[in-house]
Amino acid sequence: MKELCIYWTRRDFRLNDNPALFECTKHCKKEAADFLPVFILEDYMTKAEAGFQFGYASRYLLSKIIPEFYKKFKKFHITKGKGAEFFINLQKKLKETHTVSIFVNDDIYIDFHKQIKKIQSHGIKCNVFNDQLTIPKDTKTSTGSYYSVFTPFKKNVWQDFMNASVLPQAKINDVKYFNDTELPHKIEPKFESIWKMFSKKRILQVDGFEIDLDQELEYKQDFDKLDNFYYTEEECLKRFQKYLKSELSNYKENRDSLEKDQTSKMSLGLAWGLISARTLKKEITSYYKNDFNNINWFNINQKDTGVVHFLTELIWREFYKYLMFHNPKLMHQEFQEKFRGRIKWVSKKESIKRFTAWIQGKTGYKVVDAAMTQLAKTGWMHNRSRMIVASVLTKNLGVDWRWGQEYFRAMLLDLDEASNNGGWQWGASVGADPKPIRIFNPYLQAKNYDPNNIYQTKWLGKDGFLSETKPLIEHAKARNEALNRYGLSSQKHIPVRDY
Ligand code: FAD
Repeated sequence: MKELCIYWTRRDFRLNDNPALFECTKHCKKEAADFLPVFILEDYMTKAEAGFQFGYASRYLLSKIIPEFYKKFKKFHITKGKGAEFFINLQKKLKETHTVSIFVNDDIYIDFHKQIKKIQSHGIKCNVFNDQLTIPKDTKTSTGSYYSVFTPFKKNVWQDFMNASVLPQAKINDVKYFNDTELPHKIEPKFESIWKMFSKKRILQVDGFEIDLDQELEYKQDFDKLDNFYYTEEECLKRFQKYLKSELSNYKENRDSLEKDQTSKMSLGLAWGLISARTLKKEITSYYKNDFNNINWFNINQKDTGVVHFLTELIWREFYKYLMFHNPKLMHQEFQEKFRGRIKWVSKKESIKRFTAWIQGKTGYKVVDAAMTQLAKTGWMHNRSRMIVASVLTKNLGVDWRWGQEYFRAMLLDLDEASNNGGWQWGASVGADPKPIRIFNPYLQAKNYDPNNIYQTKWLGKDGFLSETKPLIEHAKARNEALNRYGLSSQKHIPVRDY
């Protein structure tokens, strides 16, 4: 009986520093086992059912990524169906000749662990590797609980992150590929063949309502024309190496500026595994010839502030994954118990009206409308804008943060469920790292981060920016309503900070 080792790729489309792929090829070489890389277009992706959000941006990007990844291997099987079923059926089909083992990187995405359990229950060995989360999952405070506040978490895991090793490129040409032309539901490795598998509908489900985005939105994203759009490991690394040399040292000063727009745009690559956070760290430490292992947090070297700040953002990404890993309910539930079911969001009818204006970029707050237009056109939004629109939707407009989270899930190219959820819970002030209650003033935000109106003019057009608009709700009034909604008007001891 031979062993068939399957590398199941999900959101890790790269050869470098890819734990599951590295270990799979190593094992195949050592044990003379057969090797087969597989991607499964799962039903929840292709059907685009509103409740199982897999957005148009994700569908398009995946259609671009897979054929490129395919080209690297001598053989690669692209199929469709349910993850677990494919492996179980294959094991049945090959029962006389092979035992099947799976090598896969851990994933917090939809029902991954359920599928792994199901596969294992059929006697198939699953080797699951840490990848998206670099720091140890079981990191705890000195009192033995999981962290819920970012700064102490960062200080605790900093060295784990900085010392994490980076695996070399997997040796995919040194292995014997599994030779079977009869594998089920083979899909051609071409953009058109994959793209045609997907529904093109854009439907969103919030609180039992279905919203057809094709009716509500003026634009359908046209990704190929965008500067920020890339879909290979090589291109991702090339972009980062350029960024590292030209912009990174000024990251701290520039990261919030909407008009400069000088962040790395690595989120797409990280979200889809075209690059690992460890590789970014390694590129940085080699370029700066500094391991940044021991940081004096009270006095960071002036010339290192940009780098340290960037690395800190990578740790925020780790933090949100860590929180989600230990609390999967966060997808639908506030981290802070005191807010669960207690915030008086506006009525459903009013929410639909306000939410629709928000997604259409018609709130009357120019900076919000510019940001929402950026998202609708490009599938990406600056971090500062994400924070502003999240605060405005939940605080000024009184719409449940889960609605915003769903819309971002539907629209983002760089969708990362944990960072998205963390960002929304932060924006609504219901997440980890709770205090203070932050209320963003959209006018002040625009003045501070887009002082020459460059960002707003870019996305609204000159006429759009200059046109007179009235906000859906005046900010001062909205602010008071938010305090009432959160039950804070009478609680003077809870700090509220206006930005
Ligand atoms: P850079 O500023 O260059 O940062 C480098 C990397 O650090 C990013 O690529 C990202 O991986 C990480 N990072 C930076 N800021 C954050 C942050 N605030 N939280 C977590 N990680 C961070 N990020 C996603 O990758 N996917 C999402 O779906 C997502 N949804 C968000 C929703 C909301 C409401 C908010 C407020 C933030 C969200 N973020 C999300 C975080 C952040 O906005 C993006 O990571 C960032 O804008 C991506 O641009 P960049 O790669 O140029 O970032």
